[in-house]
Amino acid sequence: MEITPEMLTQLSTYTRREFTADEVYIFRVRLCDNDIDRDGERFSLKALDELCALFEGKTGIFDHNPSGEKQTARIFKTELVTDENRTTAAGEPYTSLCAYAYMIRTEGNADLIREIDGGIKKEVSISCTAGSHTCSICGKDRRIAPCTHIPGETYAGKVCHVVLSQITDAYEWSFVAVPAQRNAGVTKHYLDSKSADHDSQLFHCQRILKQIEERTRKEVVGLQCVNSGNASAKAFAAAAARMDLEELLALRDELETTLEKKPERQLSDNRQNESCIGEFRIR
Ligand SMILES: [Zn+2]
Repeated sequence: MEITPEMLTQLSTYTRREFTADEVYIFRVRLCDNDIDRDGERFSLKALDELCALFEGKTGIFDHNPSGEKQTARIFKTELVTDENRTTAAGEPYTSLCAYAYMIRTEGNADLIREIDGGIKKEVSISCTAGSHTCSICGKDRRIAPCTHIPGETYAGKVCHVVLSQITDAYEWSFVAVPAQRNAGVTKHYLDSKSADHDSQLFHCQRILKQIEERTRKEVVGLQCVNSGNASAKAFAAAAARMDLEELLALRDELETTLEKKPERQLSDNRQNESCIGEFRIR
């Protein structure tokens, strides 16, 4: 992306000194849009407008990406982009919230920058609070007055979905570099309680679940090594990186059962392969 003097001025709001175009890396991400997502929900145009203001200055992390560990990027500019040639399932012009984020180039993030430049498909996950969740068919707020309409079902030719609006806070965004075969797109997590305490508890739970997922992933790869040796470890680790917690837990059970059935001698042979086990051992 070509870095303009205007961009450098905009991002200097967030830095202690001015940086030159060579010193920074800038990339653009689509945070979310007004289309109905896989959960049968969509943001209203006003919600996108609110998110547009709230995400400016927010720091994002690089999730599930070894070269992105401990790296952060900050959004310095957000904008709503409308595609007049594309209409959403709800009949609105397709509008997305796009953000420009920057990182200061360092030796430590050179690999990560190469990966982003290399066109790895990107999935952005955002966390925000939506104060209103209305049914598109009857207009009732589903949390206050639940109705009988089911998102995804059609009523008099209209697909029911939930409209998210009244965004009161945006918490964070994360940038997930995923292998090409996985469905890329935008995923959102919203916290629907008005109580800040409740919100932070939910957020805490999400974080813990993420940690459990990471641990289980390491465990599964370790177990696979014990089972089949080091040879296929890399390919297996890549496959495990695409599994969600549910899949990982099921696979762990399966591997543990297989391991219990293995003859003792073979097991101890494989266990001698310390370089393999050590690499994936859980701290
Ligand atoms: Zn309804």
